[in-house]
Amino acid sequence: MRPLVAHIDLDALRHNYQLACRCAPQSRSVAVIKADAYGHGALECARALEADVPAFAVACIEEAISLRKGGIKKPIVLLEGIFTADELKLVDQYSFWISVHSEWQVAALLAFSPQQPIPVWMKVDSGMHRLGFSLEEAPNVWRRLVNAPQVTALHLMSHFATADAREGSYFNRQMAALTSLAKALDAPLCLANSPATLAWPVAHGDWNRPGVMLYGSDPLEEANELTGQLRPVMSLRSEIIALRELEEGEPVGYGGRWCAPRRSKIAVVAAGYGDGYDRHAIDGTPVLVNGQRCTIAGKVSMDMLTVDVTDVPGADIGSEVVLWGAANNGTVLPIDEVARYCDTISYTLLTGVLPRAPRRYY
Ligand code: PLP
Repeated sequence: MRPLVAHIDLDALRHNYQLACRCAPQSRSVAVIKADAYGHGALECARALEADVPAFAVACIEEAISLRKGGIKKPIVLLEGIFTADELKLVDQYSFWISVHSEWQVAALLAFSPQQPIPVWMKVDSGMHRLGFSLEEAPNVWRRLVNAPQVTALHLMSHFATADAREGSYFNRQMAALTSLAKALDAPLCLANSPATLAWPVAHGDWNRPGVMLYGSDPLEEANELTGQLRPVMSLRSEIIALRELEEGEPVGYGGRWCAPRRSKIAVVAAGYGDGYDRHAIDGTPVLVNGQRCTIAGKVSMDMLTVDVTDVPGADIGSEVVLWGAANNGTVLPIDEVARYCDTISYTLLTGVLPRAPRRYY
């Protein structure tokens, strides 16, 4: 079998979730498992967390239904709410919670007769400027929802645009607007994503919504003492499948982007962009071979990539190669570091791992 496997450490997932809870002991933390749990497998992650979490969050009803059909009983909130009015029947049937961000959703909800009132998170646009009612509209929408028979457990929800940044002026503006709105409406709040959970205790509300930190990724521009406690959940591992000896000046791969600066030993690794490994990885992107750091040399291809192992003693066909995460010897290559070399973020690397890389759970 092809050696590329995404190993998923469910203990690390539980550890990271507990860290999110310890960061915000006064809040309840919903586990965000949208986009197939950021590529880790939503059902397996939900099963691993179900005993510990009060609720799960996904983007849409398709994701929520597949969790219910897989046996998940805990509440599931749809972060983007419904996409058509018809979905309310399914929301009611499967006992989902919803967010509402647009007038048509409120109108559809108030025209609907559920068997039981639906828990609703009302989304306010406090500065992200994507979804949500404006700060001016919000009081009126809140008053229509708060006593409606279709609605229970109404919360104000908002999303931060810059909670990951060290500089806090925009975050503070969002926070000040939300605090005064919540006070005026006497509304409970659901605010904090991972960076706000880790760095902004002021944003810890009745509910928090940590996502990427559950998977062990550090979302902060500047790591802090808490992010140092995160454990990687996904370790993307493969093996060396061939070796090449190159003379000084000889190129490797498409376009000959990398040329050997000296006599070099090049390892060919079974992992490529056809598995979701980012083709933008530049020369110098780190990998671990037998737990030892070395770097990508040459462009990533569809099914393989090439690594300079000149200075890795013992590198041979069958040697373990870690693209990110933990090696067998315990050495960790943080995904956030790989993401920087690919000019991207860990979110895209994780959600980009394709089904050809089978997930193995332990
Ligand atoms: N809440 C909402 C509305 C989101 O869209 C997301 C993710 O994009 C999250 C929470 C979780 O964010 P993070 O993964 O940064 O913790």
